[in-house]
Amino acid sequence: MAYISLDQVVKRYQMGEVTITAADHISFDIDKGEFVIIVGPSGAGKTTVLNILGGMDACDEGTITVDGSPVSSYSSRQLTTYRRYDIGFVFQFYNLVQNLTALENVELAAQICKDPLDAGDVLRHVGLGDRLNNFPAQLSGGEQQRVAIARALAKNPKLLLCDEPTGALDYVTGKSILKLLQDTCRQQGMTVIVITHNTAIAPMADKVIHVKNGRVDRIDRNPSPTPVE
Ligand code: ADP
Ligand code: ADP
Repeated sequence: MAYISLDQVVKRYQMGEVTITAADHISFDIDKGEFVIIVGPSGAGKTTVLNILGGMDACDEGTITVDGSPVSSYSSRQLTTYRRYDIGFVFQFYNLVQNLTALENVELAAQICKDPLDAGDVLRHVGLGDRLNNFPAQLSGGEQQRVAIARALAKNPKLLLCDEPTGALDYVTGKSILKLLQDTCRQQGMTVIVITHNTAIAPMADKVIHVKNGRVDRIDRNPSPTPVE
């Protein structure tokens, strides 16, 4: 059994009379330590899939298994625990607490976890060892995203889920964030899933899941992914 497995997952949204099938029998497997990109046009269902996998939303049909656990049959209480302990989230717009320093932002997230890493150590890992006491407004977009990644990693999660993590950044800064995510995957064996609409970054992943109209269009495996330079 794969580390992560989605089998025939369906998610519908009811908009008055109209039913939108945002995920339409989605199936894929992901191994532990894989660097995976989910790519597809806007509205394809990428965020829907990530939210379901991260326990932020429940699916209507199908099964989801993560590390042997049946996430799709979790109660809402179990889902809360799963989100809190097992999943690190990174979003396009960092979502940092503005009146807390970088260190405090990471400590706040780590506090509620079972087995957190040291906040200072994780900030040093993401290259912010000299920025611990800065507030978000004193940091660049790329640095704020590094804090957000540190905050996610400090939970020592099973899985890092990133929704358009470079979407608000310029090309060069975005590249350095992708490099950090890829290095984290390679060096720490972290399973990392990145959503993007940008097909240019596909060669860097072990596996590329192409999503279109709520369905898996194609899955590509890269035998030799390109390192982000
Ligand atoms: P992507 O991340 O690929 O841009 P989404 O997963 O956000 O796509 O959306 C897939 C489809 O589901 C879209 O048609 C979107 O409008 C719809 N959708 C997403 N979330 C909701 C929601 N909460 N309510 C209604 N429709 C939604
Ligand atoms: P968009 O597609 O959102 O208009 P870009 O094409 O500039 O924007 O790329 C989005 C992000 O993806 C950028 O921030 C960049 O860091 C990253 N990216 C795109 N192409 C590459 C590449 N070939 N190598 C590394 N990173 C890339």
